[in-house]
Amino acid sequence: MDSNKNTDFRSGFVAVMGRPNVGKSTLINTLMGQKIAAVSPRPQTTRQMQMGILTLEDAQIIFVDTPGLHNPHHKLGEYMNKHAAEALGDADLILFVVDGSESPPHEEDQILINLLKELRTQPEVILAINKIDRLDENELADRQKEYLDLYLAAEPILISATRGDQLQALIKLLASKLPEGEPFYPEEQITDLYEREIAADLIREAALIHLRDEVPHAIAIRVDEYTERGDGGAYIAATIFVERDSQKGIVIGKGGKMLKRIGTTARHEIEAMSGRKVFIKLRVKVRKNWRNDENSLRRFGF
Ligand code: GDP
Ligand code: MG
Repeated sequence: MDSNKNTDFRSGFVAVMGRPNVGKSTLINTLMGQKIAAVSPRPQTTRQMQMGILTLEDAQIIFVDTPGLHNPHHKLGEYMNKHAAEALGDADLILFVVDGSESPPHEEDQILINLLKELRTQPEVILAINKIDRLDENELADRQKEYLDLYLAAEPILISATRGDQLQALIKLLASKLPEGEPFYPEEQITDLYEREIAADLIREAALIHLRDEVPHAIAIRVDEYTERGDGGAYIAATIFVERDSQKGIVIGKGGKMLKRIGTTARHEIEAMSGRKVFIKLRVKVRKNWRNDENSLRRFGF
């Protein structure tokens, strides 16, 4: 046997699923200790598959952030659900996150449970009841029972992604259930691999923060250039796509003010994520009906 091989090492993919706003991105960010997935007080900002790679002494956990379940009333919704189902079926484990502060359990949780039952492979499911910082003891016991009744799973794990409750126990539990094997990625690769995608997500996030309800979900981001600069910083050029001319005006704002604000927020977030100085150049383009155009969805990487 190869003496370099550590046979005790475990490595694998954990699909993080749950309906929008239950705290999946927050959980991944807290587990990773850095900003990887976009977090928003509003649902549905995470449209792309994102990964956080957590490398421990004896395990590597690769988190796949599946987009929430939507009514597939346009092609984007269909696309997301198809990708979500694929990611779930390919995973070694599924981490099913629900919002413990809501009572009774949401009917969409039942829809997700049904979706799980239809998968061609049946990875083991860990049920995490999140936001327990909002519950007292009685509510906690109630919620645990309600979800046990709903899901018939093994004992759920009670966590708080923001306060940190039980997160070490969760990591231990996940790691113990992964298959034995070498790590899939070298440790340094954690952010390198996805920096472009993460940057696109953070730009979208910044746009949604500043635009509020004016241009709801009609924007897509394409990173055109992401290059290292001599001084250790990065240069990012990105295009914000909107569906209508009127939206273009809103995104640019009077004298370019709005676009500037979006760029500044995005720059701060990307600098915090990558730990280096960032220069961002944003432009806005109209692409009519990009949401219903399969080709452009593919081009955007959805
Ligand atoms: P996602 O759509 O499932 O990825 O949800 P997000 O991670 O974007 O979180 C949605 C909202 O729930 C955000 O406002 C988070 O701050 C909040 N949130 C997430 N986890 C917790 C938690 O453990 N406790 C509380 N009180 N709020 C949380
Ligand atoms: Mg999210």
